[in-house]
This record gives sequence, structure tokens and C-alpha cells, in this order.
Amino acid sequence: MTERIFNFSAGPAVLPVPVLEEAQRELLSLPGVGMSVMEISHRSKTFDEIISRAESGVRELLNVPANYRILFLQGGASLQFSMVPMNFLPADGSADYILTGSWGKKAVKEAKRCGAVNIAATMADGGFTRVPGPDELNLDPNAAYAHVTSNETIEGVQWKHEPATGDVPLVADASSDILSRAIPVEKYALIYAGAQKNIGPSGVTLVIIRDDLLQRSPDGLHTMLDYRTHVENNSLYNTPNTWGIYIINLVCKWIKDKGGISGMERENEEKARLIYDAIDATDFYRGHADPDSRSPMNVTFRLPSEDLEKKFTSEATAQKLDGLKGHRSVGGIRASIYNAFPREGVEALVSFMKDFERRNG
Ligand SMILES: *Cc1c(COP(=O)(O)O)cnc(C)c1O
Repeated sequence: MTERIFNFSAGPAVLPVPVLEEAQRELLSLPGVGMSVMEISHRSKTFDEIISRAESGVRELLNVPANYRILFLQGGASLQFSMVPMNFLPADGSADYILTGSWGKKAVKEAKRCGAVNIAATMADGGFTRVPGPDELNLDPNAAYAHVTSNETIEGVQWKHEPATGDVPLVADASSDILSRAIPVEKYALIYAGAQKNIGPSGVTLVIIRDDLLQRSPDGLHTMLDYRTHVENNSLYNTPNTWGIYIINLVCKWIKDKGGISGMERENEEKARLIYDAIDATDFYRGHADPDSRSPMNVTFRLPSEDLEKKFTSEATAQKLDGLKGHRSVGGIRASIYNAFPREGVEALVSFMKDFERRNG
């Protein structure tokens, strides 16, 4: 098969075709190097340039202030569920977690191994269909930090504005919406994201961390689990995911060519609106998330019955619209339409939805 299909997978997810093409062109030999990026030393001058370009790419796109470090780690966002509390939740302290979906729950599970967790709000009762309003937050002014999931990938619920946590450092898992929209980085103490949704392949995790937080890490942590190790060694304490960092650099270049984050955000909003409009136009489709909390990255919706949902995904797959089955915990349909997902694929889905309803509604 040479023709690409429309890949709605939640992650690892679609990558920009120009990025794949450039990687393909350079796969056997990086220009002037004569070797693949996967075959060179992570301590070479060539890789040094690649990692610093990836770092400045992220820094420029997100307007990351100078007092933040940018790290490329391993272990996925899931390891950050542990590293964040290991570094910043003292055994006698407490951290606030705001739960808007399934990934936040996993983060809580690890935090509880380190110290006390205050669930400052949970939207579980409604089936995680929205983010809480300011008056629903039971924040602890003495919390070591407050944790949110900026975009809950499984439920399709996104924060539109940061919760006001005052002096309490705000930590965000931004795995599924990083680089998809402008965010005020200065409102966060730490942002982490597994790369495989919006910024690259799996196996590399982006961490943006404010300098002053590093003083809080306790001594005696395992070297690899201490953020200071990675800051002091510029993410090169051990062998990093060199290939992943190389791709992140190409993805940053691609976003820049598309008009930067604001261009990307505009396109993402337009793509999402096409599907949400199709959902709202009929009672046949029912959106999972409340309109104010809808994610432009993961569009989740239901059909009148599970049988119809099964039929929907299998017919869609036959039409080269792949990966639409919702996560088993929510059911229904999930269309993940990250940065690299093409608008034509969204249009194809919308016309399939209309046709499917005509035949089954
Ligand atoms: C995918 C995802 C994760 C898990 O990421 P891994 O890199 O597989 O550990 C965590 N949080 C969110 C919001 C995600 O979308």
C-alpha cells in the first residue's frame, strides 16, 4: 500500500507528510554526515545542533520565557505522573489534583505513593464531560502544586483557561494539546507532554520547567528521576531518544512554516468546528463533552446504539477513515484530529457521517 489513509488514532498519531518526507530523504545519510541520525553519537556536534534546534523550536513556538528549561526525557507522560510528585510533593505535604478525565486519575494514583493528594475537583460524576468552574474548585492554598490535564484525550475535554491557583505552582499534563494552541507558559510551573500526539514519535517526553522549582527536589532521588540531572546535562545525562528529538525539530519547523502556533490554532479550530457542527446539526449524533469544554483535538461522540457505533467504525475503516473507535472506558466514537491531521480527512469524515445517518437514521 502506498496511498496514505486518514488516521484518526489518538496516539501514536498522524505526523505531517513533509516531516516524514524529510526524514525519509535523510534516513540513510544526514546531509554532510554520511550516517543516519540513529547512528550518530548523542555527544556529536551534529546531534548537539539537532537538540538545540528542537529546544529553540519549542521555545519560539510557545514563547517560553528565559527562566524555563526545556527537557527531552523518556518514559512517556506516564513517568511524569511519578517524577512530578517524587520531586515536588514532600511526604508531609499535599498536592491538589483536578480531575477532568482518565489520565488525571492515573496521575493521582502515582502521586499518592509520595504524599497526600487533595482532589480539588472531580468531574467523574457527570462522566467527565466538562472542566469545573472556578466556584467548584476546592483548592488548598498550601498545596505543594496543583495538577491539571489540559486536554483529556479519552473524554475529549479541554481547559480553555488555566484555573487560578494563586501562588501554588500549576503543573499540566499537556500531552494531547501541546503546540496545538497558544498557552501562557508563564502561568505554569511545569508542563509535560508525551510527544506521540502532536509533536513527534513515541519515546520522547517534552518537559518545560520553571527554574525555581528545581530547588524543591529532595536530595537522594534516583539520578534519572531527578529533574536537576536532566537540566544540568541538557537532557543528555544518558542516551536520549535521538530519533524522536530529530523529528520534534522537523515538526517545529513545519509548524513555523504554517504560520506558527496561531496559524496552527486557527486550522485546528476550523477542523474541529466542522465535526462539532455536524454533531450539533442532528439528534443522531450526541457529543460527549459539554460545548464549553469541547476539545479541538479529540472529538468524542455517541450514536443511538452500540450496534450502530460498531457499524459506523467498521464502515468508516473500509472507507480509509481509520482509528475512530472510542476508548473502551467511554465507548462511542473518537476522532483525534491533532495538528498534522489534514482538513481533507475531516471533510471526508463529515460527509461520511451525513451519509451514514441518511442510511441508518
Ligand atoms: C497519551 C497520554 C498520556 C500517556 O502518555 P504516555 O507517553 O503513553 O505515557 C498521558 N496523558 C495524556 C493526557 C495523554 O493523552
